[in-house]
Amino acid sequence: MIYLDHNATTPLAPSVIAAMLPVLSDLWANTSSQHAPGQDAKRALGAARATVARIVGCKPVEVIFTSGATEANHMAVRGLLAATASGRNRVIFSSVEHAGHLRLARSLAQAGIPVDFIPVRGDGTLDMAAAKALITADVALVSLMAANNETGVLMPVSEVAALTHAAGAVMHVDATQFIGKLPFNFASCGADAVSLSAHKFQGPKGVGALLLRQGVALVPQTSGSQERGRRGGTENLAGIVGMAAALDLLGDVGNQADRLATLRNTLETGLQQAMPETHIWCQTARRLPGTSYLRFGQLSVDVVLQRLERLGVAASSGAACSSGGSEPSHVLAAMGVPAEEALAAVRFSLGATSTLAEVNHLLQTLPPLLVPLLREEMLTAP
Ligand code: PMP
Repeated sequence: MIYLDHNATTPLAPSVIAAMLPVLSDLWANTSSQHAPGQDAKRALGAARATVARIVGCKPVEVIFTSGATEANHMAVRGLLAATASGRNRVIFSSVEHAGHLRLARSLAQAGIPVDFIPVRGDGTLDMAAAKALITADVALVSLMAANNETGVLMPVSEVAALTHAAGAVMHVDATQFIGKLPFNFASCGADAVSLSAHKFQGPKGVGALLLRQGVALVPQTSGSQERGRRGGTENLAGIVGMAAALDLLGDVGNQADRLATLRNTLETGLQQAMPETHIWCQTARRLPGTSYLRFGQLSVDVVLQRLERLGVAASSGAACSSGGSEPSHVLAAMGVPAEEALAAVRFSLGATSTLAEVNHLLQTLPPLLVPLLREEMLTAP
């Protein structure tokens, strides 16, 4: 199988499995227990926290382990908002946040909290003029993704953080797609809180973290004494150790980024040469190195994914699939892409395991399957 869906999730790195196995078999005691096995588990938790902190550029006390980015995002938005001084309650998101995060935004709005969305331009980049107009003195919190999961477009996190702080508000960043793909440093990114998720960078699923700048107030969303009272629940120690091991692998993330950008560009150029009907979204924007979001004419994504399946290639649609049908991507809709084009969206996302041989295989085998369909489409076009 050729796996080109690394933005959905990534395979576990062998060194991550190797780090997790002894924890699963031997370090199963509760980290809160006073007995010797509990203290051993607690030490392993402390070591993993120190590793995570060192690699993402924060202090160990600034790491709150969670069950993934969804929980970290909810914890940040609800917890930071609840800790805000009265007089400010408006919350700002971008219009292209992850679907789960937008659902949270809608639930805040339903509860009567004023919520606004910063639009994006046609190339997927954030509309900074709109951001400036929206981030005013009544804003409590701005929540922005560092990189979009569909288009890969990078968001101007530091600039928006500066605007946010100038308005006296706090800034949360969903860095789920960014961390692991490009160099990241919490201390210098400007945000007060940052979400991350291990399964996006060869770690296990069901574990992540919220990095919270020391001194920033947060109302806990689950009660319990773990994580200094900020997140209740017995820690997923094996997952946390796996996440630390996965971060440890990211030493040369810059080199990996260059390699992936070259592979992605080879893929895009090859597809466009073989099929001039290939339209690539956000190609001129600053993007994640391994992400390519495109359509082949207006061939339905289901048809394309079927052909890819036949070739043993795993990719994904840009659509949020609901039972019995798919809806056009909200990200493409926010960019002003018409629904009939958005329903043709295919996302290829390359990662650590991707190779030039895989890209070349795709370039040799996919066009022969799609060219006849594109010709047919041209003949039947109104
Ligand atoms: N935010 C973004 C941008 C994502 O891409 C994802 C995962 N698709 C999430 C949040 C949710 O992450 P998790 O699976 O760890 O809950």
